[in-house]
Amino acid sequence: TATDSIFYPGCIDTQQYLGDANYMGQNATFLMLARNSELTEVLSTLENIESHFNQWFHYPYVFLNDEPFTEEFQHKVQQLISSEASFGILNEEQWTLTDSSDLDENIQVQGDRDILYGDNPSYHKMCRFYSGWFYRHELVQQYEWYWRLEPAVEFYCDLTYDPFFEMSKAGKKYGFTVIIPELQETIPSLFRSTLAYIRENQIKVGSLWKLFSMDHHLVSNLTSILDKLINYPDDIMDKISDEIAIEHLLDHGLDHKDTTISSFKKLLSRSTTPAPMMTRKYSDLQYNLCHFWSNFEIARVDIFDNEIYRGYFNHLDQSGGFWKERWGDAPVHSLGLSLTLNVSDIHYFRDIGYKHSTLQHCPKNAQGGELTYITTSNRWERKNEQNQYDKGIKTGSGCRCKCPNSAELE
Ligand code: GDP
Ligand code: MN
Repeated sequence: TATDSIFYPGCIDTQQYLGDANYMGQNATFLMLARNSELTEVLSTLENIESHFNQWFHYPYVFLNDEPFTEEFQHKVQQLISSEASFGILNEEQWTLTDSSDLDENIQVQGDRDILYGDNPSYHKMCRFYSGWFYRHELVQQYEWYWRLEPAVEFYCDLTYDPFFEMSKAGKKYGFTVIIPELQETIPSLFRSTLAYIRENQIKVGSLWKLFSMDHHLVSNLTSILDKLINYPDDIMDKISDEIAIEHLLDHGLDHKDTTISSFKKLLSRSTTPAPMMTRKYSDLQYNLCHFWSNFEIARVDIFDNEIYRGYFNHLDQSGGFWKERWGDAPVHSLGLSLTLNVSDIHYFRDIGYKHSTLQHCPKNAQGGELTYITTSNRWERKNEQNQYDKGIKTGSGCRCKCPNSAELE
């Protein structure tokens, strides 16, 4: 069965890890799209990732921009990092929307309707670029793996193993830290357009497809259950093949407040208790708005660089949704990848503490950097008794994990 567990709980001795005869550095890079004006924020991300990870592994960086990076930008970046950086520019095809005379008006209307970033043409271009072009850029094409970064993101924990190598060894293709629901008003026709592509091309979707068309509280449960089971004996982990977990949740449901191990065990023992909180049966024809939050991604390039995904992007591009609506690259990635990937191809990086803007994923650590128990922050909007969504953001303490062998950067 396919399991998904944490690769190495806690800190490991990186020197020993790197010296292991079986270890192989991967053909991998960091990838960041950024503006010259974001230099300070870029340097803050770099300082962070260098001190928490790259001081040991020295993976190179690819920086992309719609205009040339300044000398200052390149110089300051190079000064800070412990590896090589290349700086690329996007061509016109990669950074554009449409020739339509309706463009300006459409963008303006989205602003009037208060759609997040809807009135910002460059944001639309950025989403289109990350949806369909980043993996085709010549600088990215040289690599098998990438780790997407953004300016001003924060990693809380030292990562003392190589996620590229571990993913490769485990047969994983796409790694995430946060799943959240998309704002419906940004993607009114994305799912319809996706279904049309599937139908027209007779695509046999991967099992990941199910994750995006089941009740989203179940997805939430699934990730929190997996969190809670991290320190559980291996034989339990073995039973939690993603497929089984999802099937059980679909078949039996689960009270969304009830995410204890024993309740999950009950599910595993094929309890036939009807599910009180199960509001609707999953349907292939509904999108629960869930998506992997794509500002963090560790993934193979070839899961995008193939006929099905490229065809999918072209289909979406021709429909005009990148400017008529404000489709984000995150739901596009998630739905597009579910055309080919199975749940077992996905790795949930429970152990990577990560913050982007106001949302974070926060593993809980004991002293000395030993990872003992992991909980997730409230990455979810949850329906309360008044049928409204509570939005929880957990901030503050408990989200640091420094390893003993980690050197502070100067
Ligand atoms: P958010 O995370 O959805 O709020 O969007 P961001 O503003 O962080 O943009 C996502 C990524 O695209 C970040 O890495 C930005 O630096 C980058 N980005 C966004 N807009 C532009 C742009 O106009 N030019 C360039 N070069 N990068 C951009
Ligand atoms: Mn961002």
